[in-house]
Amino acid sequence: MILHIDQVTPSHNNRFTSVRLDRLVERRDDEPWVTNTLAGESACLLPMWRSRNLLAHTESGNLAVYLKPEELPERDLIQPPTLLGADHKRTYFTVAVTDRQRDEILRQHPQAAFTDLRRASIDMDAKHAGILAYAKALHYWQYRHRFCGVCGSPNRLQSAGHRLVCGNDECARQSFPRIDPAIIVLITHQDACMLGRNPNWPARRFSTLAGFVEPGESLEDAVVREVHEESGLSLSQIQYVSSQPWPFPASSMCGFYAESTDRDFQLTEELAEARWFTTRELQEAVREREVLLSPPVSIAFRLLADWFRTQGGGDLETLCRSYRHHRPA
Ligand SMILES: [Zn+2]
Repeated sequence: MILHIDQVTPSHNNRFTSVRLDRLVERRDDEPWVTNTLAGESACLLPMWRSRNLLAHTESGNLAVYLKPEELPERDLIQPPTLLGADHKRTYFTVAVTDRQRDEILRQHPQAAFTDLRRASIDMDAKHAGILAYAKALHYWQYRHRFCGVCGSPNRLQSAGHRLVCGNDECARQSFPRIDPAIIVLITHQDACMLGRNPNWPARRFSTLAGFVEPGESLEDAVVREVHEESGLSLSQIQYVSSQPWPFPASSMCGFYAESTDRDFQLTEELAEARWFTTRELQEAVREREVLLSPPVSIAFRLLADWFRTQGGGDLETLCRSYRHHRPA
């Protein structure tokens, strides 16, 4: 079975894809504009502390907490704010904060906490989850590239946080945010799909297969190789479905469906267990808690849920919720 991109309402259903900001690329090198905007009414800051985002846990879910610039005086910042972009109301910047600043922020916002976005994003507004993921991705890159990879001198942030330049003028090497592409694939054969369990996962956790794209490899080649390496299956067709930014820590997940030529998989070092499921068998397995699926924020879950729906199985997320399959953080 092949699903086409316009049949599965693809990437906007994936968590972290609803950012919809004007990224203001043309403003990144306009320092006077950045300075004025930071001093203006529309500016808001997303603090990042040790790769964690500031969230308020409320009865109606997790809310992103944005600070006014005066809450974090610029002279005290470790590095200049990074411009994320703007919507009709706000211009968003992200800033890294120290332990001391974290303590002060939490004193001012006692209902908030610096939280792991992967878990917390299950229960929050899609747009703001996307903005926080965007901030987290840039923060991770900046933090991991503080020194030049050629001469070892400290890097300087430029272009409002989107470019690093080596501080050694003789070197002056530039680097840009790094993203690691990975493929993620739901394998199908006739009316069933295959889910596997990585040996490092907890018991009963089953999901789609996934792996990083290697140098010199197309996304499609990576799908064929990963599926064969992990399961021994050969594919007759591959269909790109949608993608998802996945800043845990720095991936871009490219989602595919792939039709296998048969169902004879082999278990490997990367695959401790695997099972084929028709929609009925998957419903049964969720009800009986024989399998624990990936959380709904993952593209793995979306690929499976879209397949499940088009096969007549109904809404997988509702089914999982009614059996308390996923619990928010
Ligand atoms: Zn250098």
